[in-house]
Amino acid sequence: MTRKKRRGRLTVEQLGVDRLDVRELQRAGILGESLVSLTPALLWPRIDRMRAYQYLIQLELRHHMVPQRILVSWTPCHYGGARPWMHCPFCQKRVAILVRALAGYCCRKCAGDPVYASQCKSTRARRHYEACKLRLRVGGIASLSVPFPERPRGMHLRTYERLRSRAEILECGLSTRVRKRPPDYPNLVYYLQHTNSK
Ligand SMILES: [Zn+2]
Repeated sequence: MTRKKRRGRLTVEQLGVDRLDVRELQRAGILGESLVSLTPALLWPRIDRMRAYQYLIQLELRHHMVPQRILVSWTPCHYGGARPWMHCPFCQKRVAILVRALAGYCCRKCAGDPVYASQCKSTRARRHYEACKLRLRVGGIASLSVPFPERPRGMHLRTYERLRSRAEILECGLSTRVRKRPPDYPNLVYYLQHTNSK
């Protein structure tokens, strides 16, 4: 697909801001043997109520009459234990992440198969975008007109230096004019929330 056709398409980042990650639900202890009922308004403002246990997540969504039911299945892990999966309510595909679409939560494919924001950009804009992402990862702001951020507390020196040299490579080819461009916040906000996953 050409870049022109991709422009204006939904991006993984925009959809991913409101998403259900089965591993996060598992870590939060929501997928246990007994039924949990909670109002997760802070994390998911459009979910009025979530009821869940080992094999099912039921969501009462704002402005939806019928609750959405998401089946959960488990596969064994290499090192013991089991990992959970959600089944897309529309196509039943097994996935770790469901994103929010008009009809409720579904897999990325059912949400219109979005592309990553960087796939819709020109080479220069992509470099700018990736460099902004790197700055967010080290706790800085998404701007290329300030010095690269200092190493954050708790980040290994080697990790920091790897990220900084990647940023230098990306940024050195950009003109001052491009460096001053405003960051693509609608897509970058995703990386603020999911700094560990990308
Ligand atoms: Zn689906």
